[in-house]
Amino acid sequence: MPAACPVCAQAFEPEVGFYWGAMYISYGFSTLIVAIVGVLVYFLGNDPDVWVYVLVVALAVLGFTPLLFRYARAVMLYAFGGTNFDSRYAKTV
Ligand SMILES: [Zn+2]
Repeated sequence: MPAACPVCAQAFEPEVGFYWGAMYISYGFSTLIVAIVGVLVYFLGNDPDVWVYVLVVALAVLGFTPLLFRYARAVMLYAFGGTNFDSRYAKTV
């Protein structure tokens, strides 16, 4: 991850340890995935054994980890980093 955005120079790490809070956002996303995939396994798998739930949910969360990592950081930046969308830069990307 670069120190600043190459287009608009927004600092990606406003302060040391800024992304510790993203861990909690990622935890929330993971919980949502566990709930959704768990319900899907229940209905699509006709209530299988517990190990099936554990395996499918763990694989789903592992599969989404690269996305969770990035989106949790983005949400953290938008929520607490003073980042706002600026339409002047939308056309340059
Ligand atoms: Zn930017």
